Amino acid sequence: MPSVPIPCRSCGSPLVHTFVDLGTSPLCQKHVEPEDANKMEPFYPLHAYVCDKCFLVQLDEFVSPAVIFADGAYAYFSSYSDSWLQHVRSYVELVSERFALGARSHVVELASNDGYLLQWFVQKGIPVLGVEPAANTAKVAQERGIPTVMRFFGTETARDLVAEGKQADLLLGNNVLAHVPGLNDFVAGMKILLKPGGVITMEFPHLQRLMEENQFDTIYHEHFSYFSFVTVEGVFAAHGLTLFDVEELSTHGGSLRIYARHADDLSKPVGERVTELRAREKALGYEDLAIYAGFGERVKETKRKLLTFLIEAKRAGKHIVGYGAPGKGNTLLNYCGVRTDFLDYTVDRSPHKQGRFLPGTRVPILHPDRIAETKPDYVLILPWNLKEEITQQMAHIRSWGGRFVVPIPETMVLP
Ligand SMILES: [Zn+2]
Repeated sequence: MPSVPIPCRSCGSPLVHTFVDLGTSPLCQKHVEPEDANKMEPFYPLHAYVCDKCFLVQLDEFVSPAVIFADGAYAYFSSYSDSWLQHVRSYVELVSERFALGARSHVVELASNDGYLLQWFVQKGIPVLGVEPAANTAKVAQERGIPTVMRFFGTETARDLVAEGKQADLLLGNNVLAHVPGLNDFVAGMKILLKPGGVITMEFPHLQRLMEENQFDTIYHEHFSYFSFVTVEGVFAAHGLTLFDVEELSTHGGSLRIYARHADDLSKPVGERVTELRAREKALGYEDLAIYAGFGERVKETKRKLLTFLIEAKRAGKHIVGYGAPGKGNTLLNYCGVRTDFLDYTVDRSPHKQGRFLPGTRVPILHPDRIAETKPDYVLILPWNLKEEITQQMAHIRSWGGRFVVPIPETMVLP
């Protein structure tokens, strides 16, 4: 615990309760260039706290997003999986119909990346605007004809957009709410940018799934907040926004999609899914510190199981490689101390990652074709949330007797 407790990012209470302490780790998207292989890397504490007042699970901010996005090496934009692209396409169909969006509507996406989602609204003739702080990805979006503002989002950006007449009928953000250190300024900004009858949708990983399925590797420095439904409802309520619907999704190991509106917009009544999920979380104890206290020990056991498998496989003379170079893989490998002593290499479909090394562990990232050349006994799937997709794409490893292994919720060799 720091000598002076940091304040909760939502309610300001001092954070004195550890959720899990994962030691120290480098930033998960800083893949190491070959020419930097002999240089040092900064490591930062990866210590998550839980607030005893609002129960927001959170990390301290060690590196500001301005630094994370500053160099062009932020390689996230090219790594979408096929299943994610399908997911966003069906989202666009769903909300366009449900909220009757058309040529007179205005859709704004926060952290719009290279415009891979907004393009589907554009195709339907629905006017859009992206807000994206990473210059390289924002530029790709603009080249695709997706109007994009290169800025961080918060109250200041929201006021400027309102002044330009750019309020939103639909304001959306996928996997951004958890990634903003200034949570209150971000949500306050959404309140400002939303038209009186407008709708906000946000997707983020669900804390209940993280805890029940030992997804500790989804904790990394760029991911500041971990939300239960009851907590996120409190965050929005504090800014005059009411959650009127919620969906539980399978993406990213289990996510929530929340639907919010202005508190005084009574045209959208609060639905049953909201009352049911709220009641379920309360019954499970998500408003009580006890449930959070047991998590750290389960994480240690998850680590021991992975190491036991890897040690036994290596003693038996097996070759093991990784698949993928996602942020979660870096938390897992750094926390468990798994380097090239266990994994010969990993592979990734993104050409931006190939030829580089994983942060901290320095495992080389190669082209997926390398697996067919070296015929390893085991392929450890680091983005385990995509295991169905990956086992299909890489089904040929079975031709030489290769097997897939997932580390989460616990180490398992797939049949
Ligand atoms: Zn709090």
